[in-house]
Amino acid sequence: MKIIEPSVELIDFIDGDEILKKIERCGRVCYQSQPKDDSAEKFVRMLIKRGHESVLEHVSLTFHIICDRAIQNELVRHRHASFSVESTRFVKYGDLEVIKPERIKFDTPFFFDWQNAILYAQNTYEALVECGLPPEDARDVLPLCLKSELYMTANLREWRHILKLRTDKAAHPKMRFIMNQILGIFKEKLPVIVEDFQ
Ligand SMILES: Cc1cc2nc3c(=O)[nH]c(=O)nc-3n(C[C@H](O)[C@H](O)[C@H](O)COP(=O)(O)OP(=O)(O)OC[C@H]3O[C@@H](n4cnc5c(N)ncnc54)[C@H](O)[C@@H]3O)c2cc1C
Repeated sequence: MKIIEPSVELIDFIDGDEILKKIERCGRVCYQSQPKDDSAEKFVRMLIKRGHESVLEHVSLTFHIICDRAIQNELVRHRHASFSVESTRFVKYGDLEVIKPERIKFDTPFFFDWQNAILYAQNTYEALVECGLPPEDARDVLPLCLKSELYMTANLREWRHILKLRTDKAAHPKMRFIMNQILGIFKEKLPVIVEDFQ
């Protein structure tokens, strides 16, 4: 068993100015107006302020995300996003990679109980596979904290929606960790898209 950290990577090479110009170009058809020099940011800000967010759907971004299975299950509830996800059917696991909850501190009784449960699951998984059961059946004993790897693509309107929901205090801490990293990338690369966030 190996404890790993969750992570996020934007896999698109993006030019924030060009993205804003594209949104402006698409949005200006509604008003039959023309872009001016440096008018894109102001225009996109106006769209967001008016709730005219369908125009943001013309641009999509893809993130490579490492999280656990429980968080993955929550991510895939977002119906306007597209996913490619590591399969527990086609992957045969060896040493399990898992993500620890922040609230389970090392060297506490909680930690040892948590670790023992995972080691028991790992041993049972290996025993089932050794007996000839295919991974797609042996996976039944794998824990929810098992590492998962996925690519998630959504348009900017949907990312705004996801980020609002999933950075909120009501979201799970592991989800907030992932989403705050994504929010940080937006703030760096496309600040106008998220500048109205609290
Ligand atoms: C704190 C928290 C706790 C949660 N707890 C639970 C739980 O206990 N059990 C559970 O099952 N789920 C739970 N969820 C998941 C939640 O119910 C949603 O499935 C998930 O957040 C996806 O949100 P969404 O439907 O708004 O977004 P998306 O699927 O990303 O859709 C975006 C928006 O598109 C519109 N839309 C999409 N599909 C439709 C449609 N068919 N009809 C009308 N409008 C649509 C809606 O406006 C929606 O907000 C929880 C979510 C959060 C954030």
